[in-house]
Amino acid sequence: MSTAAKTRSGACPLCRKPAAEQFAPFCSQGCRDRDLLNWLGDGYRIAGPPADPDTLAETLDSRRDPSL
Ligand SMILES: [Zn+2]
Repeated sequence: MSTAAKTRSGACPLCRKPAAEQFAPFCSQGCRDRDLLNWLGDGYRIAGPPADPDTLAETLDSRRDPSL
């Protein structure tokens, strides 16, 4: 049973929904704005890791190292 179906344009890096062509690589204007704000926020102030649940999930996901 494989649920890891890959969409043509990939998934939104913020919420993992299928990306929309007009907002690629994001799924919506909202996610695109959020990413931009996160990006700008990083440049303006050095803070801890983002408290955004979606970003946090992605961080945890990328932490999983299959070689360990
Ligand atoms: Zn999204």
